[in-house]
Amino acid sequence: MTDEDYMRLALEEARRAAELDEVPIGAVVVYEPIDPATRRSLAEPRVIARACNLRETTRDPAGHAEFLAMKQAAAELDAWRLTGCTVYVTLEPCIMCAGLMHQARIDRCVFGAPDPKAGALGTLYRVNEDERLNHNFEVVPGVLGDECAALLRAFFARKRRK
Ligand SMILES: [Zn+2]
Repeated sequence: MTDEDYMRLALEEARRAAELDEVPIGAVVVYEPIDPATRRSLAEPRVIARACNLRETTRDPAGHAEFLAMKQAAAELDAWRLTGCTVYVTLEPCIMCAGLMHQARIDRCVFGAPDPKAGALGTLYRVNEDERLNHNFEVVPGVLGDECAALLRAFFARKRRK
């Protein structure tokens, strides 16, 4: 499975959000245990969480797709520390979600579309590489970015027509 394959799963989640009349953003968390000494993989990567934006449905300001997916991943691993995890999300994370990525010590975040209004992993802030913080993580922007952005544009165009 490539980054694009996992982003397709995140896009499935985003479409599920649109069906619920939520802003279509989706996320998955992939876990690959790594031997800390050798940096070798100890097992095949696997999807341990998947979620979509549920802010309206749950009336929860923290109901962002990647936030919910990271909470699920922590429950699945029975640990707050998400070392070995990559978070795939269709839209660039906000400061809250980037903050949770920092707190959870994730290895990587792969996102689709950049967010000019709230993006905290390169656009407005660079939370992942701020050296004042005690954990930095890798970011891969723009994976299937056009497809992720098109889904958002279509949703808002539909809203405006209503
Ligand atoms: Zn967020």
